[in-house]
Amino acid sequence: MIEINNLKFSYKRNKMVIDDISLSIEKGYIHGLLGKNGIGKTTLLKLMGGLLFPNSGEIDIMGFSPMQRKVGFLQEIFFLSEEFDVHKMSIENYVKLNSAFYPRFSEVDFYNYLEEFEITDRKSNLKSLSFGTKKKVIIAFGLATHARLMILDEPTNGLDIPSKAQFRKIILGAMNDETTIIISTHQVRDLHNLIDSIMIMDEKNILINSSNNEICSKLYFGMEKDISSLEGILYSEDSIGGNMFIKENTEKQESNLDIELFFNAVFQNKKRIKEILSNNKNN
Ligand code: ADP
Repeated sequence: MIEINNLKFSYKRNKMVIDDISLSIEKGYIHGLLGKNGIGKTTLLKLMGGLLFPNSGEIDIMGFSPMQRKVGFLQEIFFLSEEFDVHKMSIENYVKLNSAFYPRFSEVDFYNYLEEFEITDRKSNLKSLSFGTKKKVIIAFGLATHARLMILDEPTNGLDIPSKAQFRKIILGAMNDETTIIISTHQVRDLHNLIDSIMIMDEKNILINSSNNEICSKLYFGMEKDISSLEGILYSEDSIGGNMFIKENTEKQESNLDIELFFNAVFQNKKRIKEILSNNKNN
């Protein structure tokens, strides 16, 4: 779905924000793009959306070069920016105006998603809604476009806890084999039980790009009262129930991925975790 090769980008001369990223993103999954604030996630997403132009390198999305912004590409991509502005108009009119760009847009789906977000008044003026509600309207719109690629930059920012749960449910309900969703966040916990694969961005590059299955086949996520006798612990954190830990999954045990623990572990033990994950990548 997405192939990126040797991508470089800087806003100002001599200050690379993205320095030689090469990356493959598979179709049909929900991919999380995680990284600290200001690390370059939005920049990378904007390059994918054709909203910024690379200094060098290539991006291929469904056979298109995003920077050319061809109609065929724009019809298949929906981009939710972290910050956005809306015009003074009703939800109804917003949909009428914008849906024309997307050949597979479904008004029925849009109003169903809105209902799931508990937004019932189609006549409300978008401009007067809270930031979180505006965001929900735009997410519902994005899903109803049935574009093959959805790029959501910090979609959970500004949503309260019940709305985050609705968001998760709606996204999962809207997924199918033809849809690919990339969700960026610096609030790693928000993507728990939502994403199928994890990209972690570090200074100017992608540190990790692995599916949850790959991660769990190579790393074991456990919890024990006392971990002093355990060997090969790569990372641990105290919690109410004991010590949460990650170790190499040498015995091929099943465990559940804890994104937050994994994220913290990666930054604590970069070299070793990267090494383990890149061993026999497809095993
Ligand atoms: P993230 O999405 O991970 O928070 P960004 O991609 O927004 O990170 O920003 C990456 C870096 O690029 C930051 O240092 C930020 O200050 C800088 N940056 C972002 N936008 C611009 C811009 N329009 N002009 C100059 N620098 C920018």
